[in-house]
Amino acid sequence: SVVVTGATGQFGRIAVEVLLDRGLPAGSVTATGRDPERLSDLAERGVRTARADYGDPASLKAAFAGADVLLLVSGSEVGQREDQHRNAVEAAAEAGVGHIVYTSAPRATDTTLVLAPEHAATEKIIAASGLTSTILRNGWYNENFLPQLEEARATGRIVGSAGEGLTASAARRDFAEAAAAVLLEPEAHAGAVYELSGDSAWTRADLARALSEVLGREVVYQDVSTEDHAAALERAGLDAGTAGFVAALDTNTRDGELGEVTDTLSRLIGRPTTPIAETLRAHA
Ligand code: NDP
Repeated sequence: SVVVTGATGQFGRIAVEVLLDRGLPAGSVTATGRDPERLSDLAERGVRTARADYGDPASLKAAFAGADVLLLVSGSEVGQREDQHRNAVEAAAEAGVGHIVYTSAPRATDTTLVLAPEHAATEKIIAASGLTSTILRNGWYNENFLPQLEEARATGRIVGSAGEGLTASAARRDFAEAAAAVLLEPEAHAGAVYELSGDSAWTRADLARALSEVLGREVVYQDVSTEDHAAALERAGLDAGTAGFVAALDTNTRDGELGEVTDTLSRLIGRPTTPIAETLRAHA
């Protein structure tokens, strides 16, 4: 049976839905989150639900008991995740889970990506645990650019500091389907570290062109310095820390850290990945 963390979030929810769609019996799936009330519709369909809080080892051990495979969806509390994920891995080992599937980041152990250190640390913890694992180094979600859809709609331009840097994104659903595919056949993916990306990569200028098409108005990309980008984000209402972080991700993009294309994701899901324009259109 399979246990999924973060099922109250978007990625974990899709992974659970795909497992059920692919014929895994609901009774073989445990969906977990900090607030399992939010999983009640899944419970009604026969899915086991449980509270699993990365800060509460006892909750993790109880939620993971009896599962063969764990999908550990990386948490969203940046800065706390190394300890949180260590709790999850230790609980999995204690609960007798044989195989961990973890959502990591592109080239986590060899990148300047500002988000990577917690993912690299988690990969190391998993490797040291002795459990069988599959590491899904997920590239950027198309959905990360929905704020730019709103920015373009309102102003006719998107501001950034990514220069000509490429982003090899795919839809969140594509990555979640890949996770489900691995969960359904864990032995086939034991020990693998997959770099997952969209089938093609695009620049911010390409993004502006896609937005023009989707919105039916001219949209231009305005490239600014990292400092000016962060300042613009602050003027738009982000706090200084978040603005600096978002601008740093554009620096990472400019440096190519999010631009590598592999065909591993489309091979895992058995179809092409979702182009950015399609995700934008679906939300326009
Ligand atoms: P969501 O924010 O929708 O979901 C995050 C999930 O993590 C939620 O279920 C949340 O639970 C859970 N979570 C957070 N903190 C804890 C905790 N302390 N204990 C237990 N569960 C916790 O993100 P997505 O589903 O879209 O993405 C999944 C993960 O992928 C993110 O958490 C993040 O690590 C990463 N990510 C990757 C991106 C990419 O482009 N590759 C973009 C954005 C995120 P709760 O509902 O209780 O808050």
